[in-house]
Amino acid sequence: ESAVNRIAAGEVIERPASAVKELVENAIDAQATRIVVDIADGGRTLIRVTDDGHGIAADDLPLALSRHATSKTSGEDLLNIHTFGFRGEALPSLGAVGRLTLTSRALGSDGAMELRVSGGRQDPPRPAALRQGTVVELRDLFHATPARLKFLKSERSETMAVTDTLRRLAMAEPAVAFTLRDVSDGGDRVLFRADGAANLIDRLARVLGRDFTDNAMSLDAEREGIRLTGLAALPTYSRGNAVHQYLFVNGRPVRDRMLTGALRGAYADVLAKDRHAVAALFLTCDPTKVDCNVHPAKTEVRFRDAGVVRGLIVSGLRHALAEAGH
Ligand code: ADP
Ligand code: MG
Repeated sequence: ESAVNRIAAGEVIERPASAVKELVENAIDAQATRIVVDIADGGRTLIRVTDDGHGIAADDLPLALSRHATSKTSGEDLLNIHTFGFRGEALPSLGAVGRLTLTSRALGSDGAMELRVSGGRQDPPRPAALRQGTVVELRDLFHATPARLKFLKSERSETMAVTDTLRRLAMAEPAVAFTLRDVSDGGDRVLFRADGAANLIDRLARVLGRDFTDNAMSLDAEREGIRLTGLAALPTYSRGNAVHQYLFVNGRPVRDRMLTGALRGAYADVLAKDRHAVAALFLTCDPTKVDCNVHPAKTEVRFRDAGVVRGLIVSGLRHALAEAGH
């Protein structure tokens, strides 16, 4: 494995949570309805994602593991992306930083195949037993890069980051059933579970609590082709920190200072300085208005016109607050 490949891999995969994010997004892109994530030791020794999606054809398995091979975009329409994945970087990166086993059975195929990669070296595919979908198992993350291993936080922190990643994806995909289990030391402890939900509100109630959904305002505002929906808490339901603010752009969980700043600004007159609104905000717009290709890990976005988005959030929330009598 070349140093260049390993550096690129490190940029996509920083910690177990980033591996989980990439693998779960792949499962969602494959139209999975049930996704099970098993981790051990905070994901350091094991991450296993099992899905019931459309699988990968036997002939395509080696391709799925080669750099910049993606079945999801032609390359010309990078600005027009409807799937989570589009770079074709995740699986090769994971194969470079850990011991990867990819087992898959394509829809309609009469058997499953398995492929192992370690340190970037592939074994030839061989037949395996799997009824449906795909299982990706990643063992010993960063075993070949002790410097990266050293940067991992405690098992507890890494587990929390994995859980947070899964909660965000669960909010982005209400209909999909998610399970996260800690299987350390042969155990089987459910850390997070959400059955397929009929709608966003039910999913938010599951992930953020019925208390939140019962004390939240429903949002629907639009400005210059950008639409804001979701739920934001009434001022009476606030928290002492801002961790429960979730943002989604065109269905992707994102983190963005501008967006959280706009949220804070909208509540400035109705919340004390040390209080924060719980919120799940969904922005949708024509994909050409937003660039989600800023960073390999894709949690950052850049809007063509940030001012419009900021204005939309502030006015959308203030309008909802006014309607609720604040
Ligand atoms: P990307 O998601 O950007 O296309 P990845 O490296 O994450 O790149 O995956 C490479 C390819 O492998 C995907 O384009 C897809 O064709 C296939 N693939 C990966 N994971 C799955 C999965 N769980 N189910 C079906 N196909 C998958
Ligand atoms: Mg992907």
